[in-house]
Amino acid sequence: MLDNLTTRLAKVVKTLRGQARLTEDNIQDALREVRMALLEADVALPVVKDFIARVKEKAVGTEVISSLTPGQALVGVVHRELTDLMGGAHTGLNLATQPPAIILMAGLQGAGKTTTTGKLGKMLTERMKKKVLTVSTDIYRPAAIAQLQTVAQQAGIEFFPSTPDQKPVDIALAAVDYARRHYFDVLLVDTAGRLAIDQVMMEEIQALHATVKPIETLFVVDAMLGQDAVNTARAFNDALPLTGVVLTKLDGDARGGAALSVRHVTGKPLKFAGVGEKLAGLEEFHPERMASRILG
Ligand code: GDP
Repeated sequence: MLDNLTTRLAKVVKTLRGQARLTEDNIQDALREVRMALLEADVALPVVKDFIARVKEKAVGTEVISSLTPGQALVGVVHRELTDLMGGAHTGLNLATQPPAIILMAGLQGAGKTTTTGKLGKMLTERMKKKVLTVSTDIYRPAAIAQLQTVAQQAGIEFFPSTPDQKPVDIALAAVDYARRHYFDVLLVDTAGRLAIDQVMMEEIQALHATVKPIETLFVVDAMLGQDAVNTARAFNDALPLTGVVLTKLDGDARGGAALSVRHVTGKPLKFAGVGEKLAGLEEFHPERMASRILG
């Protein structure tokens, strides 16, 4: 899986052959290749710099065991560090609260919030046997409410209707009340997103958050955004106490660099990956697999 990076490194590590220990000197060229691989995977430059510094710190002084070449030893360090930086093990949803467990979906328009809401609803219903309600607070695009209704139907979850003349906070409160009275386990709150970071949108979602006090606030971000994901992630992380990230559109050409950048900027666990337009296209996020994808 690490073929690309391994091939890249093969060129430069010839000079390392026979050395029993990784040193600052002998890994320099190899680190340059790692840096290139990460930049090609669309990891943001400041993140790459930090990362390389970390790898250097970990790698220098490493004894090279006899079954490995020094290059392989370095790739091993890089892979482990990438995995660690993306959270190590998979982190699941936290639903440990008095029902309904409220999940607030945040992110820019087009990131995949509504689709992911449906995917999560389906996963929670089918795999975890939860009773799930969903509501849209997107009063700016009537089509968005209709889209969620369609998605909810396909996902087999209940849809709480809303209309553009209502206030988002009122819609959310009514949905919470309904969910409570009808013994729903989970309420998924879909929100409006703009095309770019916008103060009004941020204030609105902050008010929603303060009102419904969700146990999970998931930031949904398009992996294809690559480096641009950094600014979006920073803005949402500053505005809201995010509890996790969903990286969408990983079925496309995205090399996954956004995963590392978003994790680096927010420090929040990447919980799920969107891997298709269909509602079955949601996977638990596994840092180890993403590390292989970024390096591969
Ligand atoms: P929202 O504006 O954030 O609610 O975004 P939508 O849920 O409407 O998604 C925007 C577009 O991205 C739609 O065409 C979705 O089908 C597509 N989409 C969402 N998630 C994925 C994914 O994981 N993979 C792919 N290929 N497309 C996705």
